[in-house]
Amino acid sequence: MKFSALPFKCPSCGSFMVHKINSFNLVCTSCKTTKAIDATVYTRAKSSIYNAQNIPASSEIKVVDCPGCGADIEFKKQQISTSCPYCETPLVTQPINGIKPYSILPFSIDTETAKKTFKNWLGSLFFAPNSLKKLLDFEHKFRPIYLPYYSFDSKTFTNYSGERGDAYYVEVQREVYIDGKPQIVTELERHINWNYVSGSTNRDFYDVLINSKSDLPDIVKQVSNFDLNRLMLYNPAFLSGFDSFEYNKELENCYQEAKEYMNSVIHNDVLYSIGGDEQRVHSINTQYNKEMFEVTMLPVWISSFDYNSKQYNIAINGVTGEIFGERPYSYTKIFITILIVAIVILGLFYLNNNYNTHEVTNYIHTY
Ligand SMILES: [Zn+2]
Ligand SMILES: [Zn+2]
Repeated sequence: MKFSALPFKCPSCGSFMVHKINSFNLVCTSCKTTKAIDATVYTRAKSSIYNAQNIPASSEIKVVDCPGCGADIEFKKQQISTSCPYCETPLVTQPINGIKPYSILPFSIDTETAKKTFKNWLGSLFFAPNSLKKLLDFEHKFRPIYLPYYSFDSKTFTNYSGERGDAYYVEVQREVYIDGKPQIVTELERHINWNYVSGSTNRDFYDVLINSKSDLPDIVKQVSNFDLNRLMLYNPAFLSGFDSFEYNKELENCYQEAKEYMNSVIHNDVLYSIGGDEQRVHSINTQYNKEMFEVTMLPVWISSFDYNSKQYNIAINGVTGEIFGERPYSYTKIFITILIVAIVILGLFYLNNNYNTHEVTNYIHTY
């Protein structure tokens, strides 16, 4: 189906404008004129999960008439924005999924910083093959993408039962052999006194992020620690010049993933609440209240490099600059290191044995 691109045109020369990273401005791709984006600071207004169940992603393929060169550009499924492959005109469309993006975290890491981060990372890898460093001389292409996430809130209340274990120590006498002679030594033995406990604990979760696009390289799914203090209300102007996508994973499945994370946190809360030196958990029953969500767009730089005919993917958090990368290992280097460590351990063992013998000799001398 035909869609038209949103117009982000330069007021001075009529050329196209893209979002200028680390600012709230659009900048003209020809004359560099800037124009402020009507950006609104994020205010929390999530919707109830129960009002948004069973809303599938649209599978409609958009065809966008490029206003730069007139070509018909076929978007990928759930794609909101991209650039024309022929003339690089930014093409931004309206989202068409049932649940619209509510917030967006604009990029603050620019392409130069992303490239520098990648090179520093590549240069600092332990156990990397020496020839990998040759890649430092190449220009690597980085692609900025806004990815859709579900952001979940939930207030939880948990009843639990279990056992609290408190450690105590008793003196025991043990026969040991020293220099081949039996001797009795006194040692402390650890025991646990178990007591049944039950109680409750509560925790409020905010902004549990679950990536809602399924067809991504694994490394991209690992990008985390987004600084959500910089969230803005969704505005398509931020997408101009960037690729972006809507969700294609169902809300229900993603909420289950969020709950798995919440349950792991709650499990630790229960252990802490039981207290003592050791804990046994018998039952955990959690009520989830005020289950809210929104769709948010988060920025990631994506790249890859080839080494020995294999592709390694790289992703960089578009706000913090944290890098997540796949990498090759040099098995020769790892083998040599293990060998050196083994030699050092054997050497220490040998020295230690000599030292003991020497001590025993002295001991006999004093008699
Ligand atoms: Zn211009
Ligand atoms: Zn074009």
